[in-house]
Amino acid sequence: MAKPKVGFYWCASCGGCEEAIVDLHEDLLVVAEKIDIVFWPCAMDFKYQDVRDMSENEIDITFINGAIRTEEQEEMANLLREKSKILISFGACSQIGGIPGLANFHDRDSIFQSSYGSTCPSVDNPDFIVPQTKTDVPEGELTLPAFHNTVKSTDQVVEVDYYLPGCSPAPYLTLNAINTLLAGKRPEKGTVLAPVKALCDTCDRKDSKPDKIMLKDIKRVSEVELDPEECLLAQGIICMGPITRSGCTQGGEGRCIKANMPCRGCYGPIPEVQDVGASMISAIASIIGIEGEENMSDEHVEKIMDTVVDPAGTFYRFSLATSYLRRKLNDYAKDNN
Ligand code: SF4
Ligand code: SF4
Repeated sequence: MAKPKVGFYWCASCGGCEEAIVDLHEDLLVVAEKIDIVFWPCAMDFKYQDVRDMSENEIDITFINGAIRTEEQEEMANLLREKSKILISFGACSQIGGIPGLANFHDRDSIFQSSYGSTCPSVDNPDFIVPQTKTDVPEGELTLPAFHNTVKSTDQVVEVDYYLPGCSPAPYLTLNAINTLLAGKRPEKGTVLAPVKALCDTCDRKDSKPDKIMLKDIKRVSEVELDPEECLLAQGIICMGPITRSGCTQGGEGRCIKANMPCRGCYGPIPEVQDVGASMISAIASIIGIEGEENMSDEHVEKIMDTVVDPAGTFYRFSLATSYLRRKLNDYAKDNN
C-alpha cells in the first residue's frame, strides 16, 4: 500500500520549527518509515517545480511553518494548499505571526531604511540601493520575491486545517498529531492540536499565585533575583501564563518557567481569548492592588503599567499579526498589504 505523502515548508521564521521535526529524535525514524516525504526543501533537494507538477490534493499532509512575509511565501502557501488534503499551520509564526509579526510595528520603507539605509550603522550605502524585484543584467533578468508591507499568519492567506502551536512545537505534540492523522482520525477543522488549559492551570508554581497581587511596579528579569519556586507574576514579572495554552512540555508545566523565566505566550491564546495583549493587560489590571487599599484608582493602575518596558513588544510578542491591532497603521499601510 502506498504510504501517505507528507510535505514540509519553511516561510518567515528562524528555522527552529525545522529543528523541531529533527527533535523527534529516534521517533523520526519510525515516522519516516510510515510516510513518503515528497517535499522538504530545508532537508532534501526538492524543487518548486516538483510541487507544481503534482495533481490537486496529491500530498496528504503539509506542515507550513513561519509567517508570510514575501510574495514567494504567499505563492508557496497557495500552491501547497492546492496540492494538499490537510494543511497544518506549524509553530507560532505560522499560527499567530510570531516574532516576525512584530515587524508590523513598522512598514516596508522603514524596514528597508534600517536594513539598507543610513539608520543601519554597519551599512555603507549612500545611494540607498535596496533589493529590486527585477534587475536587468547582461545575461538576462534577475528576479527577487516582493517584500510585503505586512506580515501575515498562514491562515490570513490560505485555509488551514489544523494548528500546532509553539516556538517551537514540542516534539510530543508533533508526534501525537502525526500519529493521530496517520491513524485516519480527523479532529474538527480548525482545531489547535494542544491542551486547552491555560499554562497557569498546569504550572508547578500555581499554588503560590495569589488571587490579588500587590505590586508597586513591574520588573524585568534582569533586575531581580527570582525565587525559583514562587509564581513569577507574584514576584512582579510579567508572565503570560494566565492566557497562554499549556502543553510546551509533556507534563504541561511550562518550558520557560522550568528555566525560571516568564512565559512570553508562544503557545498562543487559550480558546476564550480573542486578543492576547488586551486580555493580558486586563488580567494584570484585575490582579494588581495596593496593600491595605480596597480599590486602586485608574491613575495608580496606569502608573504601574507605565513601568512596563516595551508594552507592545511584551504583550504582543508573538501575536501582533493576528491581534485586533494587526499592524501599525500608516499612510502606506492603508492602501497596501
Ligand atoms: S503566572 Fe506564570 S509562574 Fe505564575 S502560575 Fe502562571 S505560569 Fe506559573
Ligand atoms: S512557557 Fe510560554 S513562552 Fe515558554 S515555551 Fe511555554 S508557552 Fe512558550
